Amino acid sequence: MPISSINPATGEVLQTFESLNEHQLDAKLNYAASTFREYRHTTFSERAVMMQRAAQILESEKKSYARMMTLEMGKPIKAAVQEAEKCAWVCRYYADNAERQLADEEVETSATKSFVHFQPLGVVLAVMPWNFPFWQVFRFAAPALMAGNVGLLKHASNVPQCALAIEDIFKRAGFPAGAFQTLLIGSDTVNRILEDHRVAAATLTGSEPAGRSVAGSSGKQIKKTVLELGGSDPFIVMPSANFEEAVTTAVKARTINNGQSCIAAKRFIVHRQIYDEFEKRFVEAMKKLRVDDALDEQTDIGPLATEQILKDLEEQVKTSVAAGAKILTGGRRAALQGDLARGNFYEPTVLADIPRDSPAYRDEIFGPVASLFRVESIDAAIELANATTFGLGSAAWTNDAQERNRFIEEIEAGCVFINGMVASDPRLPFGGVKDSGYGRELSYFGIREFVNIKSVWIK
Ligand code: NAP
Repeated sequence: MPISSINPATGEVLQTFESLNEHQLDAKLNYAASTFREYRHTTFSERAVMMQRAAQILESEKKSYARMMTLEMGKPIKAAVQEAEKCAWVCRYYADNAERQLADEEVETSATKSFVHFQPLGVVLAVMPWNFPFWQVFRFAAPALMAGNVGLLKHASNVPQCALAIEDIFKRAGFPAGAFQTLLIGSDTVNRILEDHRVAAATLTGSEPAGRSVAGSSGKQIKKTVLELGGSDPFIVMPSANFEEAVTTAVKARTINNGQSCIAAKRFIVHRQIYDEFEKRFVEAMKKLRVDDALDEQTDIGPLATEQILKDLEEQVKTSVAAGAKILTGGRRAALQGDLARGNFYEPTVLADIPRDSPAYRDEIFGPVASLFRVESIDAAIELANATTFGLGSAAWTNDAQERNRFIEEIEAGCVFINGMVASDPRLPFGGVKDSGYGRELSYFGIREFVNIKSVWIK
């Protein structure tokens, strides 16, 4: 089946690619496996030189990569430039730290000498989503390649140009051509690759159903996986918080990347003492956001990445409203003019009075739609924050030390940001609990996911 790059702002087909046939796929798997046999013997400093070059390419060509991202999946251009810069950061971070993070660790035992030694696993398959089409890939590839593994990328089918551009960056940086290859294939081919003996492990960032499928197949093959799945992050605001900053950050945290971020704040849980004012100010700020051409630097919200995502979002809002939720603003497609009239634009939307069984309460909402909840106490706030099958990120706003400690201890999530917006950072581990997945990316923890942790005992 052909793989198409479609501009979500206009519906225009930008480019179409043939997906790999059996023979081509087999050749790429062979190439990856044979490259690993050589590449694993490169030194950390050799890898670091190439990784630094990848960072330079990303930085010097960030504007053209940003334009590619925006045209392919609708991200506002300013954020796309920042994404390219962040990819350069993660390349540099691992170029600088991988050797130290994977150095032998001596342990005292009954042996004359014993230590823990880290070795690459081999060919790692990365199944990636479209929402941060560069960042998601680099945060896997930088540590994986620095550890001596080789990567195969099965990117989301709507971002083939980004997928090919990333392969090209690693090649131009000097990595062997087989060290990082893009596979233009549909998701129906993933299981077969996981069954292939040439592939050692896999990582998937994406939805929960995709995660279950990859985890199931990999489990049967006894292959290591890391899963970074969805989230329905709470954003709690308590009376002691800096109110102005909380409101401004709340709007940004919900609408970042047109609302299509796994760690976007999705459920705003506000203490009753400040709820009414918060609701008023939040709705006012959401109404002021500019929905427009994502290539325009003044735009706050561009089109959703695909027509299907737009339809799913409409359905979630409709079902929530039918169940009793109230629309405070938005709740429909945004009407734009000219070519943009055919784009996947949706108005910034705020829902309140949300019943328990509705999608806005229960499910991940991937778009600029915020769910507001009024709570009576910190106990109620924590209970509601945890009343989801997900556990990715969380934010809590308070200046009370006791409350802060309770949020840190009691929220079920892979991270807790106090008085801030959840964001990934190469220096901090990133990942979730519950249905948000397992394993960690980034930091010291991320680079140790795809290595053989070998104990050595010498007498
Ligand atoms: P998706 O539909 O699950 O797609 C993600 C990737 O998985 C794509 O490459 C897709 O290929 C592939 N895929 C889909 N179904 C599959 C299956 N049954 N077996 C194997 N591969 C499969 O997710 P998405 O809509 O692109 O991305 C949005 C989701 O990703 C949200 O839930 C979001 O929260 C999550 N996400 C999580 C993180 C995190 O770090 N935790 C970060 C970003 C996004 P095709 O495109 O060919 O279908």
